[in-house]
Amino acid sequence: MKQTEKISLLQSIFGNYKFYNQEYLFYCKFCNHKNQRFSINLEKNCYKCWVCKKHGKLYHAIKTFGSGQDLYNWVKLVKINENLNFSTIVKNKLQTKVATIPNVPDFIFPNVEPAYKNKQALKYLESRHITKQDIVNWRMTVSIDRNYRNRIIFPSLNQFGQINYFVARDYTGRQLDYLIPSGSKLSIIFNELFIDWQQPIVLTEGVFDAVKVFPNSIPLLGKILSSHSLLFEKLTHHQTDVFVILDRDAKKDAFFIAEMLSMYGNKVFVYSIKDKEDLGVMTHQEAQKCLSESKLFTHKMKIQDLLEN
Ligand SMILES: [Zn+2]
Repeated sequence: MKQTEKISLLQSIFGNYKFYNQEYLFYCKFCNHKNQRFSINLEKNCYKCWVCKKHGKLYHAIKTFGSGQDLYNWVKLVKINENLNFSTIVKNKLQTKVATIPNVPDFIFPNVEPAYKNKQALKYLESRHITKQDIVNWRMTVSIDRNYRNRIIFPSLNQFGQINYFVARDYTGRQLDYLIPSGSKLSIIFNELFIDWQQPIVLTEGVFDAVKVFPNSIPLLGKILSSHSLLFEKLTHHQTDVFVILDRDAKKDAFFIAEMLSMYGNKVFVYSIKDKEDLGVMTHQEAQKCLSESKLFTHKMKIQDLLEN
């Protein structure tokens, strides 16, 4: 049964196979040889290409060529099958491929002033329950650059204190809500400089959400935590306790993240927002309340929730 599931997962990544001489032979994605010479051993969960001689654990091949979902499904299958424990998985994890670094135009930042000095920006921020202290903590600025005018800019600093990303939010209602740098976010951990991996971390969707549960909060800049991301790698490596609080419409995404992290040994707490749509519109007190009422994620919780909704 598990064997068939494994094969169909592998097939979805490596294409069709043939069974020949007691071997499952797929196409090799490392050397792209025209014949099926990528041999898979389902008992040992290993692969070997007879052409390019690449070999190793299937986990790595799936991590390299499959999606986050594929890897997640694989770990689930293998774990049930072989009692592979979390620490082994974490130790075996490949270095995350460093994706192209998003392109942050350097001209934005010299021409800025703190957001609290701009009346209109401040008014907007206050309407979202953002305090002056938040503005200072997150170094929110306003740029005079033509392309970024009338926007509050949240810069992100990498672990060395260099700007590696930004989110620019319109405060006039007259232009596109958000501007972000082009390029992949896989290697971005928003404001990593201020993150303590030994302390619990709160994952939120957007920057406004993260502000409300500061400190040690990281916006995902979306609803997804990719297993190929640097953030995922660091969270699992440090075995950090994680709180996942996404918007009200993203319950499934929150459970997915929680399940994935807990499979890698992290302790995960979740909170389903009920009354308001997201942390971003709450006051600090309301957001802290969500945090304190978060519950340890378990499979039972997920099943119960599915049954209720
Ligand atoms: Zn090969």
